[in-house]
Amino acid sequence: MHAKLIQGGLEMKWLDLLREGASRAADKAQRTVEVTRTSAQIAGKRKQIRNVMRQIGASVYEAYKNGDFTASGPEVVRLSAQIEEMEREIGNLELELQRLNREKTCSCGKVVPYNARFCPDCGKRFETAPETINAALEVEGSLRCVKCDAELEADDRFCIRCGSDQSALSRQE
Ligand SMILES: [Zn+2]
Ligand SMILES: [Zn+2]
Repeated sequence: MHAKLIQGGLEMKWLDLLREGASRAADKAQRTVEVTRTSAQIAGKRKQIRNVMRQIGASVYEAYKNGDFTASGPEVVRLSAQIEEMEREIGNLELELQRLNREKTCSCGKVVPYNARFCPDCGKRFETAPETINAALEVEGSLRCVKCDAELEADDRFCIRCGSDQSALSRQE
């Protein structure tokens, strides 16, 4: 009776683990689909922008041919506003893409893993970084922080986990 209960408990654990693994794989597949879709949306909007740019050019030229290119003003303003709106949408889609790719952008422009605590380029400290950083940082590779051993990219000047300056301290080979 007792042994049976324990075995039942173990089976439950296994099932939980299997379910967890399956849902993580499903998560990843779902994310890949979303990355593809979001990238396609961005590409589509960029193409639309190029089309509207051509329309602007055409309308200016049309007005020029009619003797007063400034007459195209209202049309140019209307079309430019369309481009502005599409650029705003692209910005949002790019943020979404970064979220899906588990990345974020530092104010200096460097794209870093979403859980980095420090920018590897300028050394800025991020306000919020999830606690899962250790798990994410333990990947195969050779370059590690001279201080905390976190996995780093070849050109990282600052550790993304502890923020220590990698050039100030000599790297251990
Ligand atoms: Zn930075
Ligand atoms: Zn470090």
